[in-house]
Amino acid sequence: MQTLEINDNGSLVEMIQLSLSRAGFFDSAVDGIFGPVTQRAVVDFQNSFGLPADGIVGINTWDKLSVFIKGYCYKSLGFKLIPTNISYSYELVKNLTDGLKKRYSFITADKIGSSTMGKDLPLLVIGNGNKNLFITAAFHANEWITIPIILKFAEEYLEAYSKGKTIAGQKAEFLFNNVTLHIAPLVNPDGVDLVTGALQQGEFYANAVKISNDFKDIPFPSGWKANILGTDLNLQFPARWKTAKAIKYAQGFSQPAPRDFVGFAPLETNEAKAIYNYTAANSFDMILAYHTQGKEIYWKFADFLPHKSKEIAESLSCASGYELEITPDFAANAGYKDWFIQTFNKPGYTIEAGIGESPLPLSQFDEIYSANEHLIVRAMKETIERI
Ligand SMILES: [Zn+2]
Repeated sequence: MQTLEINDNGSLVEMIQLSLSRAGFFDSAVDGIFGPVTQRAVVDFQNSFGLPADGIVGINTWDKLSVFIKGYCYKSLGFKLIPTNISYSYELVKNLTDGLKKRYSFITADKIGSSTMGKDLPLLVIGNGNKNLFITAAFHANEWITIPIILKFAEEYLEAYSKGKTIAGQKAEFLFNNVTLHIAPLVNPDGVDLVTGALQQGEFYANAVKISNDFKDIPFPSGWKANILGTDLNLQFPARWKTAKAIKYAQGFSQPAPRDFVGFAPLETNEAKAIYNYTAANSFDMILAYHTQGKEIYWKFADFLPHKSKEIAESLSCASGYELEITPDFAANAGYKDWFIQTFNKPGYTIEAGIGESPLPLSQFDEIYSANEHLIVRAMKETIERI
């Protein structure tokens, strides 16, 4: 963990403020700015926990604070784990997946590979069913709001299962016993850290700044979708990749860019390769790839029509209120769901959550979440009943 102190800012400072607030030392607004109020709270926290009270969050203070992110110390600390009011970072996701595993020891918390910068690509596996559903989020860096959508779903589902309750009108136990849910909540950790300000120094950061200088009309870092090397991870899959390349190069994306660069070859990025390998190693009955924005569901690739894929798309649309869309031909290439449909002939959907310019504001979160809680539960039910 990097050391943070007065005048720092970004999603890691938000994480500190959240944990101080959960611990009872901070009651101001979480704003991601390490100012005097935050420093005072850190000092109080350090005094209370017998740490040197220097107001600087180094490794020992992080360690104590992380208890309040993981929400567990020998037993659950009671509060809801998944925050929906702060920006996300790799460190936050790691703490939260650890925390979910501690509270619900029967789940699997693992990784599917490593990012360009060597961060884990986290994985959660929940349930005992014969049907397998894979949900991915944050392929695109500035679409990081998709992370708390999926993690909050995991938390609500696990709580409902543990208490014998329902989620979106379905018995959680029925879903749990019939579907194995695989979740990769953070496909692009380096890119998300760049967008939310957890990454503000070092050679990868400097390289990203250099890349963005050639694309002045794309705001930096908020317009960044790619991985940290400037390759768009959802244009990396071997499904008409050459077509995608021709189109994107013609649009001016012929070199590493904040978005829309297909790479020099398919699957050359660690992150896309990890998703490819994990998908190839499992027999998924369905995949949902979470993106923002548009309140739309992209359900088709070329002329492929997997069994019941249209009916299931209509069902997901009814559950969420999101419109069904067919990707225009010039854009329907080299995406993860395109490759999944082409290769496995099973239903795969890109969910474009929320509406507006990415990164979407957290003020939309509750509305987005409720639509997608219904959508995911419906997807689980459809894998049981129709596939
Ligand atoms: Zn996207």
